[in-house]
Formats: sequence, structure tokens, C-alpha cells
Amino acid sequence: MVPDEGYEPPVPPQAAEEVLISLYASHEKIYPRSVSGLFSNWRWGMVFLTQLVFYGLPWLEWGQRQAILFDLGSRRFYIFGLVLYPQDFIYLTGILVISALSLFLFTAVAGRLWCGYACPQTVYTEIFLWIEKKFEGDRSARMRRDAKPLSLDKVWRKTAKHLVWLAVALWTGFTFVGYFTPIKDLGLEFLQMSMSSWEVFWTFFYGFATYGNAGFMREQVCKHMCPYARFQSAMFDKDTLIVTYDEERGEPRGARSRKADITTLNLGACVDCSLCVQVCPTGIDIRKGLQYECIGCGACVDVCDTVMDKMGYARGLIKYTTENAMQQHWTQAQTFRHVLRPRVLVYTAILATIVMAMLVSLTLRTPFKVNVVRDRGVMAREVAGGKIENVYRLQVMNATEAPQRYKITVTGLPGLVVASEDVVMVASTEARVVPVRVQAPADVAAPGSHAMQFQIDALDSSGHLTEKSVFLVPR
Ligand code: SF4
Ligand code: SF4
Repeated sequence: MVPDEGYEPPVPPQAAEEVLISLYASHEKIYPRSVSGLFSNWRWGMVFLTQLVFYGLPWLEWGQRQAILFDLGSRRFYIFGLVLYPQDFIYLTGILVISALSLFLFTAVAGRLWCGYACPQTVYTEIFLWIEKKFEGDRSARMRRDAKPLSLDKVWRKTAKHLVWLAVALWTGFTFVGYFTPIKDLGLEFLQMSMSSWEVFWTFFYGFATYGNAGFMREQVCKHMCPYARFQSAMFDKDTLIVTYDEERGEPRGARSRKADITTLNLGACVDCSLCVQVCPTGIDIRKGLQYECIGCGACVDVCDTVMDKMGYARGLIKYTTENAMQQHWTQAQTFRHVLRPRVLVYTAILATIVMAMLVSLTLRTPFKVNVVRDRGVMAREVAGGKIENVYRLQVMNATEAPQRYKITVTGLPGLVVASEDVVMVASTEARVVPVRVQAPADVAAPGSHAMQFQIDALDSSGHLTEKSVFLVPR
């Protein structure tokens, strides 16, 4: 159909204006300001303590060997006087259970204590920030320098900082490998450039992980990579001590002169100086309430206390307290009384029980191990004298640092005897596999498999082990 003259086609309704929303937020570099105060001192105390242990332990001697050495090649783990074998895996399990329970306990009591004071990410970031401050100054100087174009001053400061960071990181990697290879030998190998490829790999891998995580990733690790940050809030309750801004006291916030009389101003105690945000290693504003990014480091508590001191106000506008204490205006004593709640006491009791059980087990542990394997190459057979003989292989592991003799006897069937050598000598911390021939009279039992036991006694020290096996009587 031909349209009438003057016909104008309908105009389609105007499409709604399209707005492109980007879900990508570029990372803004955080320049934490340095801070001093009670919690900062605690953190530095933990930095010294943990690093003294980490860097120092591999250099400690115990007799003729390294005090702590996890010798993966020979499958021996030396921890001071203890020599553990892979069969002692139960103790590693115990240590992991104790670590997990301790984390639950500390978190229930005071939130992310581990994150704020002892986590390697926090500790190395603190060390790297200290080095950064030595070369580039504090927050504002660093921000100003980063905003400026490249200059000789900027290049030498940043180069020197990175060189020192790399030196610390590689020393950390070297120390880490020193827990698995005797560290003095490793040092010699390093000087002679003869480290094995695995030692080189792990030194550089651990070193660069330290350099990257503490120098560049910093709060990103806590915010996006650490699984603990995700589930720790499940362990909080209303009686957990967490870093809290006292909104009732602080709001309405606002700047004012130090001499101004707060009672005549319609203002709370917060002077809105933003120092609590500037010192925060994760760059959050604690005045907005508890956020999952908060690692509970207490830096904002320290800096806010100095502000309160300068203003002549009471400390504690930001403090460690509990949700219940804030709501019910409890005193400090009341708050701490409520922290010791049933959940905390149960965690403590379980933890103490496991620690005790592990200590008792370590003290009473038999200082040798035995594995019994039937020799599949030699079936049960009749031998001279009309006896039946079975052959076994006994792996005897000496977990002491002196040579030991072990006596082997057998029980379980009448007339059962060890027909081969029944005393075995094993060198210190060594394992030895010995073939053992066991004989019994032909008419000892009906044809088939019969339970028997190996009894092993240490002759030069105390200790007795019983290992089960079977004795086969052929048809
Ligand atoms: S440091 Fe204290 S006074 Fe300053 S903004 Fe933060 S809460 Fe307010
Ligand atoms: S909010 Fe305070 S306690 Fe939390 S991470 Fe920042 S500075 Fe540390």
C-alpha cells in the first residue's frame, strides 16, 4: 500500500540513555604513616621475637648437628634432642591441631591478633616499611616524591630501597632453605656457587615471595589472598575484643581549635584529623564501623590516643573493646570479665588437654621404630629338622643419637623361635633392614595363617615394642 502524501513514519521511542558502569576499580597505592604507641611497641616486640627465632634457630647447634633440621633427603626431622621419622607424622598433626585451636582461641578473645602482630605478612611489611621510611621518608614525603617526575634523587632512593629489600628477602629465602639443608654447608655452597638447583629455586622462590608480598602486595594479600580474613568473622561474637570507634563519643566530628571548649561546640571528640585513616595499613576508615579489611593492628588506636592527648581529651576514642561493652557501657573490668566466656574456656581446656597429651606422648615415646614386612620372595617352607620357616624383613629405626643393639624374639605359637641372628646393631639415627628367619615345629598348628608377634627390646637403652605379623603353615 502506498502511504498518503504527507505521511510521516512514527518515530521510535528514544532509547534509554546507556550508562557504562565499570566494575573494575584500579588499585590505589596506600602510603601508611608511621606511628608510635603501645600497640606499635607490641607489634615491634613481636617482629623482633619472631625474626630472632626465624633467623636465629638454624644457626643453633645441638651436639654435632644443627638443632632444628628437617632433613627431607634422609627423612629425619631433628628438633633439639628429638629425632623424628615420617612415622611420627602424628606429632605434626598434633602441632597443626594446636596451631588451629590457638588461632580459634585468640580470635574468640581478641579478633585478628595473629594478623595484627605475628603474621609473616604483617611482620615483613613492617620491616619493609621501616626500610622504605629510611630511604624515602614518611608518608607525605613519599607521596610528594612519587607525584614528581623522575629525578636523580628519586632514582637513587628507590634503587637503594629495592636493593636493601632484595637483600632482606634473599636472606629470608636462604634462612628458609637452611631449615632443610644444614645452613653452614648451604653458606659454603653459596660462596663456592655450588648450591643444588632445588636449593637455588627455593631460596629465590621464598625470597621473591617475601619481596613481592611485603614490598608491593602488602594489604592486597590480607584483603584478597588470605583465606583466614574470609572466615575469621565467623569466630567473632559480641564479646570479642575488636578495634572500635566510639561513635557515641566521637560524633558529630569536626575540626576545632585546641583551646575551644568542647561543651560549647556541638561537636563530639573526633577532630576529623584523618590520622586514623593515614596510619591504617589497609587504608580503611575505622569510623565507618568494623570492616573485614581491618587486621586489628591497633595503629589507629595509637595515633588517635596521641590526638586525644594533644587535645586534652580522654584517651580511647578508638580502642579494643567488645560490641556488648559499647552497647551496655561496661567498664574495662566488666568487659574483660565477659571476655572469659564459656566458649573461650572450652577452647582453652581443649587446647591445654591436647598440649599435655602431646608432651606426655613425646616423653613416653619409644626411641626406636620397627616395620615388619613378610618377605614375598620366600614363601613358608619346610627346612631341615622338619621345621617350618617363614622369612620376614624388619626395618629397625634408631631414633637416638647413639648406636643401639636390639634383641628380637617371637611369640604367638608354641616353639616359635628366631633362627637367624637375633641381636641387631643400628647406628645412631640410622635405619637398618634385616632379614629374620622364624621357625616353628611342623605340627605347631593347622595349615593356614596364624597370628604372631615380634618383640623387640633395646639392650643399650630402655624401650620395648611389639609388632604384629602372621606365620604361614603350608599344607
Ligand atoms: S584519629 Fe581520632 S580524632 Fe583523628 S579522625 Fe581518627 S578518630 Fe577522629
Ligand atoms: S582500622 Fe585500625 S586496627 Fe584496623 S587495620 Fe586499620 S589501623 Fe589497624
